[in-house]
Amino acid sequence: MTVDTIAPRRHRVVIIGSGFGGLFAAKHLKRADVDVTLIAKTTHHLFQPLLYQVATGILSVGEIAPATRIILRKQRNAEVLLGDVVGVDLKNKTVTSKLLDWERVTPFDSLIVAAGAQQSYFGNDHFEAFAPGMKTVDDALELRGRILGAFEAAEVTTSEAERKRRLTFVVVGAGPTGVEVVGQIAELADRTLKGAFRTIDPTQARVILVEAAPAVLPPMGPKLGLKAQRRLEKMGVEVKLNTMVTDVDYLGLTVKEGGQDGEDTRIEAAVKVWSAGVQASPLGKQIAEQSDGTEVDRAGRVVVEPDLTVKGHPNVFVIGDLMSVPGVPGMAQGAIQGAVYATKQIKNELKGSAAPADRKPFKYLNKGSMATVSRFNAVAQIGKVEFGGFLAWLAWLGLHLYYLVGSRNRIVAVYSWFITFLGRGRSQLAITERWVFARRALEQSRDQSAQKSIG
Ligand SMILES: Cc1cc2nc3c(=O)[nH]c(=O)nc-3n(C[C@H](O)[C@H](O)[C@H](O)COP(=O)(O)OP(=O)(O)OC[C@H]3O[C@@H](n4cnc5c(N)ncnc54)[C@H](O)[C@@H]3O)c2cc1C
Repeated sequence: MTVDTIAPRRHRVVIIGSGFGGLFAAKHLKRADVDVTLIAKTTHHLFQPLLYQVATGILSVGEIAPATRIILRKQRNAEVLLGDVVGVDLKNKTVTSKLLDWERVTPFDSLIVAAGAQQSYFGNDHFEAFAPGMKTVDDALELRGRILGAFEAAEVTTSEAERKRRLTFVVVGAGPTGVEVVGQIAELADRTLKGAFRTIDPTQARVILVEAAPAVLPPMGPKLGLKAQRRLEKMGVEVKLNTMVTDVDYLGLTVKEGGQDGEDTRIEAAVKVWSAGVQASPLGKQIAEQSDGTEVDRAGRVVVEPDLTVKGHPNVFVIGDLMSVPGVPGMAQGAIQGAVYATKQIKNELKGSAAPADRKPFKYLNKGSMATVSRFNAVAQIGKVEFGGFLAWLAWLGLHLYYLVGSRNRIVAVYSWFITFLGRGRSQLAITERWVFARRALEQSRDQSAQKSIG
């Protein structure tokens, strides 16, 4: 008599996203008896907190965006797939992703969704073409092209009004990203580009930070907000609080100063950067709709159960910027801690040590937050302790080095910071025609193909 034996199949964990949530989830399953498939629409793990340094010529892309499959090369239980996840089927436990014309359906036993968030224009999506956000490598390179391209155009134009417009830079949103990028645009103009042009003086550039709230860095409290504001103003940045952007176009933006009842004012500016809001990945809504009783909040984040799962699906975890958990900010720590928690529940279940019903709820440990304002100057909040200046900058430096992936990247980053902050050089000032003009070329080609299909 023969007995057919089927080799037992390992538990399959599918992870969507290669950001802080996705990558840390994959790494924490390294020794688990599972097969991991990580699907992401980019080939890299992006260290978003340093994107502004790519946009302003301090770091190169490779230093903050190492290839995910190289990071996971030695993790034998993990495979990495490039693809845009277009469908998640909770009932049949599959994830559908697309790469070019290929569609792939990947089955899962456990799913960790860490698809993050995108820039939000609060319903004014047409702003995006004129005021890109800073969420992706493409965004940062496009902004670098726009920022440095504006100085080039100002050098060439013979019109005084156009020169002024080209040398006006507006950052919308005074959260940590807005503060960091506006500070670096000011330092780029004042230190790095000083003396490099013949018909313009880059130090005369007008750098403006616009914020609808009455304070800079609203989540960090009034004391640190004021510290950051004073420092920016000392650097020559114009800080416009209680100012709402009502329109953005190619030539500049329209703002309402002094709140809702204020007057409309025009700011002619070639470079506009948007860092004013986030909208969660649409995958959140798609998943919530398949889970009876699970909702999304106003930003599209999934209101998860205390164990970060969706109702009725104890093996579907939503983590990072895509989850909505009271008291957990959309920060790297939230995503990392969510990843560690979710993978622990999967491992416990496989060991038979904790059924889903017995899971302890996710608890977030707030390790603080910080933002750099300029070289040698940052603000930090760790527990109840708030401090600013050089000490906070050192803390920022140490923390970012710790979380950068890869020892080579750490060494190169330290070297780049050394030349930028001690000296005034920046090693990544190259821009290409494609970065500067890519969006317009893409739009033209889309318009042309739309016209063809109408014709
Ligand atoms: C400019 C900037 C500065 C920041 N600074 C700080 C800081 O100083 N400190 C801090 O703690 N936090 C900071 N943050 C926030 C922090 O980066 C996020 O909280 C963190 O990245 C969230 O991790 P995540 O894994 O949830 O999402 P993300 O890191 O955004 O990763 C999402 C992943 O999902 C993938 N993805 C999305 N949709 C799909 C799809 N349909 N198919 C396949 N893949 C998909 C993306 O390609 C990406 O790999 C900053 C964010 C930005 C944008």
